[in-house]
Amino acid sequence: MPRRKANRGRNRWRTTAITAVVAMASAGVVAAPAAAAPAEGASVDYTLFVNPFVSTAGDYGNDLPGAQAPNGLAKVSPLTMPERNHAGYDHDQTHIAGFTQTNLDGVGGSGGGGDILVVPTQVEYSARPSTESYAHPFTHEAETAAPGYYQVRLGEISGPDGAVENGPGEINAEVAATTRTALHRYAFPDGATPELVVDLHHNFTNRTRSAVDISQLDDGRVALTGEIRGSFYGASYALHYYAETEQPVTSVTTWAADEFGDAVSRQGVDTGAILAFAPEDAGEIGLRITLSPISVEQARIDQVAEVGGRTFDEARARTKAVWNERLGRVDISASAAADPDGTLRRLFYTHLYRMFALPVNATSTSGTYRGVDGVVHQVDDFTYYDGWASWDDFRKYSVLAYLDPELYRDMIQSLIYLFADVQSTGRSIGGLAHSVPTVRWERSAVIVADAISKGFTGFERLDQAYPALKEYVGFSDGDQLGQGHPGDRPGDSVQRGYDQWALAIVADALGHGDEAKQLREAAALPMANLYKPDAWTAADGTQVGLLTPREEAGDWIEADYERLGAAHLYQGTLWQYNWYPVYDLAGVIAAMGGPAAGQRGAVHFLGEDDPDNGLGMLHSNANEVDLQAPYLFNYVGLPSLTQKWVRTIYTKESWNRYLASSSTDDYPSSDGEFRPPIKTKVYQLDPRGFLPTMDNDAGTMSTMFVAAAIGLFPVTSGSSQYQLGSPFFDRTTISYADGRTFTVSADGVSADNYYIQSASLNGANFGNT
Ligand code: CA
Repeated sequence: MPRRKANRGRNRWRTTAITAVVAMASAGVVAAPAAAAPAEGASVDYTLFVNPFVSTAGDYGNDLPGAQAPNGLAKVSPLTMPERNHAGYDHDQTHIAGFTQTNLDGVGGSGGGGDILVVPTQVEYSARPSTESYAHPFTHEAETAAPGYYQVRLGEISGPDGAVENGPGEINAEVAATTRTALHRYAFPDGATPELVVDLHHNFTNRTRSAVDISQLDDGRVALTGEIRGSFYGASYALHYYAETEQPVTSVTTWAADEFGDAVSRQGVDTGAILAFAPEDAGEIGLRITLSPISVEQARIDQVAEVGGRTFDEARARTKAVWNERLGRVDISASAAADPDGTLRRLFYTHLYRMFALPVNATSTSGTYRGVDGVVHQVDDFTYYDGWASWDDFRKYSVLAYLDPELYRDMIQSLIYLFADVQSTGRSIGGLAHSVPTVRWERSAVIVADAISKGFTGFERLDQAYPALKEYVGFSDGDQLGQGHPGDRPGDSVQRGYDQWALAIVADALGHGDEAKQLREAAALPMANLYKPDAWTAADGTQVGLLTPREEAGDWIEADYERLGAAHLYQGTLWQYNWYPVYDLAGVIAAMGGPAAGQRGAVHFLGEDDPDNGLGMLHSNANEVDLQAPYLFNYVGLPSLTQKWVRTIYTKESWNRYLASSSTDDYPSSDGEFRPPIKTKVYQLDPRGFLPTMDNDAGTMSTMFVAAAIGLFPVTSGSSQYQLGSPFFDRTTISYADGRTFTVSADGVSADNYYIQSASLNGANFGNT
């Protein structure tokens, strides 16, 4: 039985409180507290600083406004019509169909999850409900959201399906969530005959199976039980559910494909149920749906354990308290100069909130999880997380390492268990059924190496996980090793190089020194073979080498370094992938021609050579490939430019030339570029919270803001290092479960005063970045 081991490596610091101080140029005045700052010692409601509607409009982030507990499996969120974002909700839409119970927040593709659509209605159905009959009008004036809770007044719909109309009343719809349970509460107008449609076919990507069984509870209420299976991007998943109504049900109708009637058991792909309630109960109709990767019976046990006799309001209050505990771990203090109207504080807590959406808690309340090996594993004093998007969010874990080391450790152990379970099947990770909706696993080796490099020890089954991690990272074949690169795909080379470098750290930890050596040699190949020495010439004549595709025979292939998708690159340019081997930026700079060439390249990359011309901005804020770009100046002897660009990109207007995908309807664009480039704020406290096509991707973009605001950024995830930027707040204090604190102070910081003059750590001068 795996047990949590003591985290010996974490106690590197001997003091209970660590204080890192950076001093800006003297402001000359004593700053007054900002209006939004809470009084010292007062109980702060951090959830009030979170705006769940940020980044929910159109293609501006694909976040969800719905209810969730921290890293909750249940994410109950409104489904808009006629269009939706990848998380189901688009702030620009006019109608809401109902509420789905699962979600992969902020991801691309078509969105993952969207399971079990619940629709409050009083439409008369004589066949499987038409999706058109779900369309309730709504307005933002009658809509609220807070961590763990969402409420909207929905225009009532009635009449026979196919000829539905909006009724005179409104349905007040409220949803709340605990970790595994979605709680629904609907207040229908007086005189209504309430119904709930439970549409099990609905899914954002692909429904492969669903089933429902209806059973009577002894007080007239009913239980719905069954399973749903679906797939998204890299993998398929299966979830079981147990749902109970809170009021007696007067009739039940079910469907499976074209069959429609009173059967109490249905299986198929398109199944569902329509529950009718008595008019005297119209004022409050409740439904609780608990999800379990393990079984229907486990879902029932989990519902009792985490909700039990609590009312909707009690469950909602409990989740709010959990969020306050989570968000309050990071307490910020901002002067009026640093945050005049409280916008930065609200952005900070909104993005901190988004960091705790994925991965999700996939452990039962009985301490079990279902592995991809199909086995129900018993764990103890440990939470198993699943639902990965590691190509996108691998840097997030490096920030969680200093925000919440216990949570971080369980997540790393979960990823190790995942690969250990993969190994025991002898199959590939993508071909297995996963316990929850999930995205993809590239950079998993980087995430595991991150914990090892940071001194975490005692992971279970790391030796079993290693072969599966190695298989997933892949090896270059003999020809590729001989020529030092996989043909004309330099993006593959640098991504695999990063994983190979990370896997070497894992190999060393397991005592596989020879393999670690081979992996390091493989990881060094891109710098040895894929940087064309005279790819670009700076204005001062400096020849700068850049990542460039090669023929197998070795000849350089001509490529447009500024074009998205050139040289078979995935969602990036050669300039952007040029900096991808952050595991050896010294090697990259050497391959570019040395310090002068590296400096000229970094300066050019951020558009410094022609600051008024947006075409000169070669860095992309919209996607994950080069999110470390503002910190590159720390490596080329120009840290003041890092401080300037961190401030600029996260809090001010900057040029943006690149999109994450080929085009957007919101601006003239093509081939992955705004045409012309736009000068705008990248992070905004608005439903258009990011650039168009800039998915939050499991909180990746939110993590960038949080790390930038605190001042410690993970340029090289997988290592023990953070890079200093320029903190946004006068003081940020992180509190740990064991009572220790870590405080970052930025003396005299403001929107215009952000160049660091000196730094200290625990009172001693600190002289590097
Ligand atoms: Ca992305």
